[in-house]
Amino acid sequence: MTASFLVLRGSQMQCGSCGSGNHGHFIAEMGIRSPGLEDIDKLTAWVFPRLNVCLDCGSVEFVVSKEELLELRRLAKRDTAKSTITDERNL
Ligand SMILES: [Zn+2]
Repeated sequence: MTASFLVLRGSQMQCGSCGSGNHGHFIAEMGIRSPGLEDIDKLTAWVFPRLNVCLDCGSVEFVVSKEELLELRRLAKRDTAKSTITDERNL
């Protein structure tokens, strides 16, 4: 997978949002869950991406691993099924 956040301009990598060359690389631990208040107390997927952070505008880019992506797809599929059931109950 290719990164689109940092773009090569001349010989320098620059932020795709503000054009700054001032960026840092970090490691993160993120608990990702579906939006909304339902199940707010349940973390549903942990990811440990490497972050590219623009130190001027705060834009961040990261890519999740294939295993983490599979887990997020399962989460999205489960949420789609949940909203379909909720929609059917509201009819
Ligand atoms: Zn920036």
